[in-house]
Amino acid sequence: MVYVVQYTTYRPLLYRLMITVCYSTDIAHALTTTITGKRTLTSSVIELALTSPVPLHYLPGQFVQLRLAGEWRAYTVASMPDDFTVIIVIQLIDGGRASKILATCKVGDDFQMLPPNGWFGCRGGEAACMVGTSTGIIPLYAMLRATLEAGETKALTLLFGARSQQHLFYVDELTALEKRYKNLTVIYCLSKPTAGWAGYEGRVSDYLRKHFSELKNRTFYVSAWHETVETLETQLLRLGVARGDLISEYYD
Ligand SMILES: Cc1cc2nc3c(=O)[nH]c(=O)nc-3n(C[C@H](O)[C@H](O)[C@H](O)COP(=O)(O)OP(=O)(O)OC[C@H]3O[C@@H](n4cnc5c(N)ncnc54)[C@H](O)[C@@H]3O)c2cc1C
Repeated sequence: MVYVVQYTTYRPLLYRLMITVCYSTDIAHALTTTITGKRTLTSSVIELALTSPVPLHYLPGQFVQLRLAGEWRAYTVASMPDDFTVIIVIQLIDGGRASKILATCKVGDDFQMLPPNGWFGCRGGEAACMVGTSTGIIPLYAMLRATLEAGETKALTLLFGARSQQHLFYVDELTALEKRYKNLTVIYCLSKPTAGWAGYEGRVSDYLRKHFSELKNRTFYVSAWHETVETLETQLLRLGVARGDLISEYYD
């Protein structure tokens, strides 16, 4: 228990240090990228395609950083590795400095971007349960696609947490993956669904508590806003998941 408390207390500092190291080592390599696509996914989530003048190489789960309002902001790459274009999905935050710019940006605008970076990734070759809320599912989606396309046959479950049906996105993409790969199950956990919802009602943490016996002995991947990640990590460790089988990334 002491270990859990210490880990969750100090982790934000370690994570900030890691991100700072990424910035300082890569800052000289900033590229000018151009918005080549913009799509509205929900009332507060948008998708951007950013095209770079040089080829970009990255691993599923990695993020790029954009220079917005004089500061760097990280966004996870949703697309599969491609030579010149990356897709990112952004939750627009009320009053957020970067969100304000991204809400009004348009095709043809340029942004400074640091190339893909980060250590969040899927080990592969083992059954996994991936848990994300809102745009936290983006690295999980990229990792799932890559591992399934690489031939993974072990059971994979994605728990996608959102408030209501109106806050879900990439449902068509996830449904297509589920149809193609029978070892993938996607469960949408809606905390406040609107009328007509026939799926699971409750948070991802409720689902984990009720259904943990079906999911134990898997590797858990967690991605969300940092307070949610810390809550889920504490819950999973208490439920008996080994520290080495719990891999997470959180948004600052
Ligand atoms: C490794 C990494 C990957 C990331 N990937 C993505 C991604 O794929 N998509 C994405 O949308 N974001 C992602 N983020 C978060 C992103 O970098 C910004 O933090 C986010 O867009 C908010 O920036 P902002 O300037 O608009 O808000 P700020 O001006 O920085 O914040 C305004 C206020 O909102 C709060 N806030 C910020 N974000 C949230 C949130 N999500 N939920 C609740 N409160 C919040 C802040 O604490 C602050 O009080 C990632 C962050 C990291 C570290």
